[in-house]
Amino acid sequence: METIETPERAMLVIPHPDDGESGCAGTVAKWVAEGCHVLYVVATNGDKGSADPEMTSERLAAIRDVEQRNAARALGVDEVVFLGYGDGELEDTQEFRGRVVREIRRWRPDVVMAMDPLRTKGHTHRDHRISGLVAMDACFPYARDLLHFPEHIAEGLETYKVGAVLLWGSENPDTVVDIAATLGRKIEALTAHASQLSTDANRIETFVTRRAKDAAERASADGGQYEFAELFRKISFRR
Ligand SMILES: [Zn+2]
Repeated sequence: METIETPERAMLVIPHPDDGESGCAGTVAKWVAEGCHVLYVVATNGDKGSADPEMTSERLAAIRDVEQRNAARALGVDEVVFLGYGDGELEDTQEFRGRVVREIRRWRPDVVMAMDPLRTKGHTHRDHRISGLVAMDACFPYARDLLHFPEHIAEGLETYKVGAVLLWGSENPDTVVDIAATLGRKIEALTAHASQLSTDANRIETFVTRRAKDAAERASADGGQYEFAELFRKISFRR
């Protein structure tokens, strides 16, 4: 598998609060420690993610907002933008795409990270598919082209060419990031999403560690030597 150089600026397009941490918190913590500036763009407010009959969507959205901010703070993320769509209500619209394009033109990331929308084994959450597709489309060609969303240009932003998209949750990963030094930070960040997790901290640790170990084994089988890893499918764009 390929490795990737630490970018100067990165942006994550996250469908629900906690998906970013679960997919790439180890990579984010590692990159931040190496001087990368990271923006989170959280598409939905996660207001359906509860089995508690006493819970309301309004209260849950407020809880998850705080959890997401705390998780981002634990990783050293520079800024979190909430687009505020309802959980399960993402659509592949010009409006959503425009808001992602606007963040790309504002943040000017070398790398955009999103969930791989193209999975064939099993069903995936609609918001995961749509946020992944919209993120990829926003990078290319929409953020690049002057005549897409000219209102951004009118307000002083410039067009921008993203270098690469890293997709997490991919069935066909080709890129590995060694997270041995930041696995603990990933666990810490995920623990911030208390409403989504078992209250037993040991179980979170066991689960996250096992997944990172499985990823490392997959990457090691492909050459290289890893103890804990996160895997991505990389799509590069000519800049
Ligand atoms: Zn999700």
